[in-house]
Amino acid sequence: MMKRGCQMKDYKIATKCVRAGYKPGNKEPIVLPIVQSTTYKYDSGDAMGKMFDLEDDGYFYTRLANPTNDAVAAKIAALEGGVAAVLTSSGQAANLFAVLNLCAAGDHVVSSVAIYGGTFNLFNVTLRRMGVDFTFVSPDCSDEELEAAFKENTKCVFGETLSNPSLNVLDIEKFALAAHRHGVPLIVDNTFPTPVNCRPFEFGADIVTHSTTKYMDGHATQVGGVVVDSGNFDWTQNDKFPGLTTPDDSYHGIVYTERFGKAAFITKCVSQLMRDLGSIPSPHNAFLLNLGLETLPLRMRQHCENAQKVAAFLQQSDCVSWVSYPGLPGDPEYAKAQKYMPHGTSGVISFGVKGGREAATKFMDALELANIVTHVADCRTCVLHPASTTHRQLTKEQLEEGGVKEDLIRLSVGIEDADDIIDDLRQALEKATK
Ligand code: PLP
Repeated sequence: MMKRGCQMKDYKIATKCVRAGYKPGNKEPIVLPIVQSTTYKYDSGDAMGKMFDLEDDGYFYTRLANPTNDAVAAKIAALEGGVAAVLTSSGQAANLFAVLNLCAAGDHVVSSVAIYGGTFNLFNVTLRRMGVDFTFVSPDCSDEELEAAFKENTKCVFGETLSNPSLNVLDIEKFALAAHRHGVPLIVDNTFPTPVNCRPFEFGADIVTHSTTKYMDGHATQVGGVVVDSGNFDWTQNDKFPGLTTPDDSYHGIVYTERFGKAAFITKCVSQLMRDLGSIPSPHNAFLLNLGLETLPLRMRQHCENAQKVAAFLQQSDCVSWVSYPGLPGDPEYAKAQKYMPHGTSGVISFGVKGGREAATKFMDALELANIVTHVADCRTCVLHPASTTHRQLTKEQLEEGGVKEDLIRLSVGIEDADDIIDDLRQALEKATK
């Protein structure tokens, strides 16, 4: 049978991408098996009862744990350098679970405003409706502005390491220090750089989330998410986290920090949130995600190499009004990118076509190789106009605050040959602006 969350030597990240999480035994399949079973058989009721009391390790129902899902979660925990992780059915569920594991009605969160539109909506509309309050700050805010955002009831700080689509690089150390001064953890969504390009725990972040739908999968085959815990945050340092440090009446009076130590955060996330909200991925999706993870370092290198060439091309083009790519010397985010993501940021570039919104639409329609899709971070080059699609629920002011200009085109550079990508962009830009 598969080994649950198998630990590895401290291999380099490319080795972990291929090998972490699943170690076949003698005569067992070399490929991670898909355990497509909702349930697991026991020889006695007592043996099963011990599992319900969290006294025995194993599987009883896939909503709570599944061997395929666990192996992939363990791989991602190893890639991030964390102690434990849980897969979710989407990136949205990952961010929801990370916040809800700490916050209830009456609590407050400090969040960077430069985050994915769906996450902003989750926070600003849905979680507000449920009684969780948010203060949004610019990722470039001063220390004083950041300090002023905290309240007595603040339970966590949230940001994206490389924001979608505005491409701000979060000053992770600054946000982590501020969070820790107030006795709360920093949660970061590390979807765009992936752990290949940025490992936020090394800079003081406490919890990492991902939409695994993006580069981790890389082939647009599954929607998924993950929450990873560094194991570094001390939940017992104050009385802000009673859900972790006092008995859980909904789970036999367990005190997560006492019983599970460094695994407390993820165990609570599974035994409360996954039990009650049920956003588990199918094991088949976890299998597809695992295939993507095996080649993640190769793909990230190619995405970044291609994006660097494409950004340089766009920068010198007469048809382009501005280009934002944190890998370009001179880009306002360049210095932070060099610090937090020295080997590359991602394949995502944003830019404006001369002629504004109308020219941007013509440009997209003229593309032959690049696909118009809502998706991003795929092996195929794709484009999107966020203001009229993913971010259309935001007001003009909210768009500006989130760094999303109305003429912004988000270009997700794929792993095709860079010359072919550039030729396609050149012909489409010429048609759109002549
Ligand atoms: N976080 C980031 C940075 C994203 O870009 C996205 C989706 O684009 C999400 C979270 C939400 O992920 P999903 O679409 O997998 O629910």
